[in-house]
Amino acid sequence: MEVAGLRGFDIVEPSSLEEAFGLLGTGDPAVRPMGGGTALMLMMKSELFKPTRLVSLRKLGEPFHGLGESADGKWVRIGALNTFSMLDHSPLMKSHFPIISRTMNTLANLRVRNVASVGGNLAHGDPHLDLPPVWMALDGEVRIVGPSGERVSAVADLYKGYYETTLEEGELITELRVPVKPDWKSSYTKVTTRAAHDWPAIGLAISVQLSGRQIQDLRIVLSAALDKPTRLTAAETVLRGRDIGEALLREAADAATEEVELETDNRGSQEYKTHLLRIYVTRALQDLVSEAAPK
Ligand SMILES: Cc1cc2nc3c(=O)[nH]c(=O)nc-3n(C[C@H](O)[C@H](O)[C@H](O)COP(=O)(O)OP(=O)(O)OC[C@H]3O[C@@H](n4cnc5c(N)ncnc54)[C@H](O)[C@@H]3O)c2cc1C
Repeated sequence: MEVAGLRGFDIVEPSSLEEAFGLLGTGDPAVRPMGGGTALMLMMKSELFKPTRLVSLRKLGEPFHGLGESADGKWVRIGALNTFSMLDHSPLMKSHFPIISRTMNTLANLRVRNVASVGGNLAHGDPHLDLPPVWMALDGEVRIVGPSGERVSAVADLYKGYYETTLEEGELITELRVPVKPDWKSSYTKVTTRAAHDWPAIGLAISVQLSGRQIQDLRIVLSAALDKPTRLTAAETVLRGRDIGEALLREAADAATEEVELETDNRGSQEYKTHLLRIYVTRALQDLVSEAAPK
């Protein structure tokens, strides 16, 4: 039977990497790896993607599964097939990265969170996704395997453009590694202009290392209003090493809005999103500083 908009295709479940590479390496762009399948399903329903074969990663072994702390406690390893709900319910994630659970509050719905995978989310390349900018602000890196070997990439280097990643054909994300930084604080602001669970007009992930009210170091990552999640390095430079105050926040907001050209879409015009960026970058920084160093 054919479902409207869908045509017949194979779903295969290899149990070894060699088998997976064999099934993926056909040169046919309609053959794709599958994590939770939620993004693939949306693209298939809208006929943007018509697969001939989906290669499920579910039965592949250890590097794709599991979630745990390194022996020296310096980083957390998250297998690519962990679902969002697994992250949300993990005590380890809650203690080291409370930002993840908070981000889940407005991300999709429970049914999607129960199946969408960390690896699929990272590999999809949609600039509206909520978690990639967060992993970038946390300095996450991914391990990637392909027929020609293994490599490591900062999440920040994974994106080339709109739905474009640096993954080569046949390459798979096996795991995400996130450094544990006890003296840093992070936040993610999903600014929606229609409904709370809608795609963001802008997404803003910030992490800061503070000494009192002085910013020692920080990452500011903007998503949704650009073709890929992007570090706002000019604003970071303005803030690094300085005490947070109203004048500095104004200077940082000026730098942030000047260094990027935001896109107009049905969630807001360029001018409106620029206004949102100015407000929310200021507010998020103020909140992080007040949380760490209340007056
Ligand atoms: C109703 C609905 C609401 C949503 N709302 C939100 C929201 O509010 N915020 C948000 O951020 N997201 C939202 N999403 C998107 C959701 O986050 C993504 O669909 C999901 O993260 C994709 O993960 P997946 O495992 O299902 O990926 P899949 O659909 O399995 O794959 C996505 C892409 O990644 C590739 N891929 C999968 N796994 C790997 C791997 N390990 N290595 C290499 N390539 C791989 C696939 O070939 C495909 O190209 C929503 C989705 C739905 C259906």
